[in-house]
Amino acid sequence: MIKRSFLTLAITLSIFSCKSDKKEPEKSVEKESVEKWQAKAPATQPFGSEAFDKSNNTTLRWLGMAGFLINSHGSTIMIDPLLGGFDMPILIDFPIKSDSVPKLDGVLITHSDNDHYSVPTNLELKNVTEKFHSTIYVDSLMSNRDGLPSVGHEIGETFEIGNFKIKVTPVDHSWQNAYPDASDRVFKDEDSCGFWIETPDGTIWATGDSRLMPEHLNMPTPDAILFDFSDSEWHFTLEGAVKLANAYPQSKLLLHHWGSVDAPDFPPFNANPKDLYDLVDNPERIVVLAPGEPFILNQIDHK
Ligand SMILES: [Zn+2]
Repeated sequence: MIKRSFLTLAITLSIFSCKSDKKEPEKSVEKESVEKWQAKAPATQPFGSEAFDKSNNTTLRWLGMAGFLINSHGSTIMIDPLLGGFDMPILIDFPIKSDSVPKLDGVLITHSDNDHYSVPTNLELKNVTEKFHSTIYVDSLMSNRDGLPSVGHEIGETFEIGNFKIKVTPVDHSWQNAYPDASDRVFKDEDSCGFWIETPDGTIWATGDSRLMPEHLNMPTPDAILFDFSDSEWHFTLEGAVKLANAYPQSKLLLHHWGSVDAPDFPPFNANPKDLYDLVDNPERIVVLAPGEPFILNQIDHK
């Protein structure tokens, strides 16, 4: 959920600064910038083509934003890659440039918001990507509007990419319908999705952006969750994210959707990992990655 809320924020801020301008413009602006703070991701660990080589394990790398690279024994996918060209100020250095990516067996896109489906990034990845995968709606954008080799999937559908067995999982993120100016289109829940990803070394659940659904609390236990803990009403909310985390008390929690965009007033982007440690069972499983830092997937104890 991006554009409408940011627009509202921008309007609110501009009203605030208009009122302030009549009194003490410079002082007021200075005060505003000093008081704002948000958690930022650790310093980026850049990587190159070696991250795409054949290997003996399954390695995940957070790309910043909501993006991940997963290399499982040489099969490579990216989820929601955004490596530049965003329409808001960015706090991080991206760990790799699009034109340095040597090959991808697939790109998985959870939904059409531009922090997940980055048209500039995906167009730059087109020539090195075998196939782009998403929902039926996002596939229609990728194929018909943007000229990408893509395929659309129903919720619950399964497909394979190299060593990955993938199932499309449900989400509730049709925020556009609550804001008449956001789109002429009526959005459906199945326009957005998550991905359940089985690898030879364990299972990863990329939840996608979503409000918490009952189904989210009754999944098999994943070894790792790509964990969005944004305290936003269109995401899990912090309370909902903790509920989800504690439904799978051993699963590793790889944090994302935080620390990447300069937006201290915008809850989808300004979460702080520190808020989780007193709320989540077994907090030692919280994994705060730097963009680009490798994380090797291992199976947790499922007993
Ligand atoms: Zn998002």
